[in-house]
Amino acid sequence: MQPADRSAMELAAAVAAGEISAAECTRGHLAQIEATDDSINAFLHVAAEAAIAQAEAIDAKRAAGRSLGPLAGVPVAVKDALCTRDMPTTCASKMLAGYRPPYDADTVARLRAADAVIIGKTNMDEFAMGASNENSAFGPVANPWDTSRATGGSSGGSAACVAAGMTPASIGSDTGGSIRQPAGLCGITGLKPTYGRVSRRGLVAFASSLDQIGPMARSAADCGLLLETIAGHDPLDSTSLAAEVPPYTQLLEEPLCGVRIGRVAEHFGEGLDGEVAAAVEEAFAALEAAGATIHDIELPHAKYGVATYYLIAPSEASSNLARYDGVHYGHRTEAPCRGEGFDSPLVEMYCRSRSEGFGPEVKRRVMLGTYALSAGYYDAYYKRALQVRRLIRQDYLDAFEKVDLIGGPVSATPAFPLGEKTNDPLAMYLLDLYTVATNLAGVCGISFPCGFTAGGLPIGFQLQGPALAEPLVLRAADRYQRLTDWHRRRPAMATG
Ligand code: GLN
Repeated sequence: MQPADRSAMELAAAVAAGEISAAECTRGHLAQIEATDDSINAFLHVAAEAAIAQAEAIDAKRAAGRSLGPLAGVPVAVKDALCTRDMPTTCASKMLAGYRPPYDADTVARLRAADAVIIGKTNMDEFAMGASNENSAFGPVANPWDTSRATGGSSGGSAACVAAGMTPASIGSDTGGSIRQPAGLCGITGLKPTYGRVSRRGLVAFASSLDQIGPMARSAADCGLLLETIAGHDPLDSTSLAAEVPPYTQLLEEPLCGVRIGRVAEHFGEGLDGEVAAAVEEAFAALEAAGATIHDIELPHAKYGVATYYLIAPSEASSNLARYDGVHYGHRTEAPCRGEGFDSPLVEMYCRSRSEGFGPEVKRRVMLGTYALSAGYYDAYYKRALQVRRLIRQDYLDAFEKVDLIGGPVSATPAFPLGEKTNDPLAMYLLDLYTVATNLAGVCGISFPCGFTAGGLPIGFQLQGPALAEPLVLRAADRYQRLTDWHRRRPAMATG
């Protein structure tokens, strides 16, 4: 078996047992990147030399009889929204082109401490705003199952590199679905942990009350393996949770008997593709056959999720992105600024720097957010959105009194053609229908493959759980994956 064919768990075990060296494993994946990424564009930066050096250091450690970390030799790709001290961090924006942070994000530091090999930085929608990965300043990412189609977004690069066998696992971030939706469209497994489960320190902020880092891999078990490393309290992120980190991978054995899974009738309404609906229903049946019970539940305010999210997320973004003014952070215009036609030369410099640095979707969000937060509109939009957010959260709390998990589709359609929705922001926003409420409520959710269309495109199933229910969410997804083999199917380019 080539290194690129193995799961993260298999690779970690093989490296620990000395069956394969970390350097060999890293070279195997670099070769796969070399062979496939020209047609995918999943990576913005491949750190080949640094990765090999890191792998050799792990091999030397093993040779010296020192103990290895739990991810020893496992190549991991990191979304370019996370700071890396030895690699560029651009958030797929011209605004941050060439930026090299002086420190590692907490997640990256934990991965390195666990002896994972950081192989490079993945493409994404600019500043994580998007649902197709077409908003990157460095070009869209192609879906490994059909390169004329989108990967979903915003963690499209992180999803595609796992689907195409370029890495066994990757790190994404999810503010309104950006781990789960691309995982669904690319046929991999992606977990959005509970808000605060993973430190956000070093994650370039989009909407701070919603942003959460999480693992993407080929299976729920591999997501658990990564989560064990990256979760945990960080004294430098005041919103990170102090709760102990369970040994997720050791909690997968218990059967699903008696686990109650909720099904929301509204999820199956207008707009849901027929093949997706059928595959999702079959997944419910499989979970039921595995011992779970299925119950009809309601999330009455979920229909306001997209509207609420598109007020709160842009409001927070407009504030977070104010720092990119060409002085504090980010691209500075080279145009001579004399202030003609502007209030002052300084205002002209800010304006030109931001106009040149940001792409159209980021500008749209900054304008939306600035408007929603402005005096006179604040009460009608931002404050109202916060009130609805409370109701959405309450729906989840009520639902989790009756059921342990909530199942359903992750995306209304399979992967769509590149370019199909780029001129229609509203159509793009509606893609987030099934995912944004999880973030608004601060709970956790996983997406995993549950079938394929007749045309060979993967279909995703979503399971949401209460705050800190990652052990159950992972266990249910893992149980499903023990009984089915959708997650084992690979696109042709991954199998050579
Ligand atoms: N598609 C959503 C958006 O465009 C979600 C993005 C995300 O989760 N980062 O905002």
